[in-house]
Amino acid sequence: MIQDIGEGRLDISYGLQKPSDGDRLFIYGYKDKTVYVKMLRDDIPDIPFFPLKDDLLRNKEFKFLFRIAGTAYFTIIEDGTELIPYEHNTYSFQKLSVFRKSAQTDLRFAASTGWQLYKWYMDNRFCGRCGGKMKYGEKERSVICKDCGLTVYPKIMPAVIIGVTNGDDILMTRYRGREYKGHALIAGFCEIGETAEDTVRREVMEEAGIRVKNIRYYKSQPWGFDQDLLLGFYCEADGDCSIKMDDGELSEAVWVNRKDITEKNENMSLTNEMIVRFKEG
Ligand SMILES: [Zn+2]
Repeated sequence: MIQDIGEGRLDISYGLQKPSDGDRLFIYGYKDKTVYVKMLRDDIPDIPFFPLKDDLLRNKEFKFLFRIAGTAYFTIIEDGTELIPYEHNTYSFQKLSVFRKSAQTDLRFAASTGWQLYKWYMDNRFCGRCGGKMKYGEKERSVICKDCGLTVYPKIMPAVIIGVTNGDDILMTRYRGREYKGHALIAGFCEIGETAEDTVRREVMEEAGIRVKNIRYYKSQPWGFDQDLLLGFYCEADGDCSIKMDDGELSEAVWVNRKDITEKNENMSLTNEMIVRFKEG
C-alpha cells in the first residue's frame, strides 16, 4: 500500500529546520489541488531539489514536513499557483492525483502526506476562536494563536472502509460524482460519539440498507490525498441481503462473487488490498 515504504524510513520528528542541498520541495496549488512537477515519464512525476535556481521563490519561508530515508521534504504555506506561472521551465502544475500511479513509491507517499500537512497549515493560518494570527509551534507540530494562545494540532479524519461479505460475495460500490471511477467498498467518516464499529454498522445501513454482524478490524492506512486515516473492517451481512442503495452517495452497489472480481493488486490503496484479499480467499 502507499504507506509501505519500508519500516522506519518515515521520520516525522518535528523541528523548525532549514533546507539544505539535496532536500526536496513540494509546491502545491491549493485551489485546484495541484502540485508543481516535471514529468520524467508518464508514471514518474518529479519535484524540485534544493538549491533552487528560481528567483520567484527568493525570500520564501520553506516549511519542513518530514524525512524519508534521510531526505528532508519541505513545502511553502501559500498557494503555489500564485507564486509561479502554471508552466515554467520544464515544470507545470498537475493534479495531485498524478502521484497515484507514480512508480517512485517514496515520492508518492511523500506527495500525499505532504499535501495533508500543507492543507492543514493553509486552513489554520488564523485562530478559529479569536481570529488572531497563528504562529508555528517550536517543540511539536502545532500552530499557536499569537493573541489568545489557542494551540491547534494536525487534523486527521478517521474513516472506515468496509468489506461486507455474504458467503462468496462481497458488496462493491461506485461513488457518485468523484474523480475516482473504479470499484470501491462501502466507506464513511466516523462521527463524534461513535466507535469505529458503530460507524461500520451505520454506513452499511445508510448506503446499502443492510444489517451486519461479526465485525473484524483488518488494517489501517494514512490517506493524505483526502486528510484521512482509513480503518479497514470486514463484516458479514445479517439477515436480508437485498440492497437498498443510497443513490445520493452511490451510483452502483452490487454483490460480486469472488470469482468475478477483476481487480488486481495495485500496491496502493487499502480498498484495493481488501478486495483482492477477499478474491484470493
Ligand atoms: Zn486566538
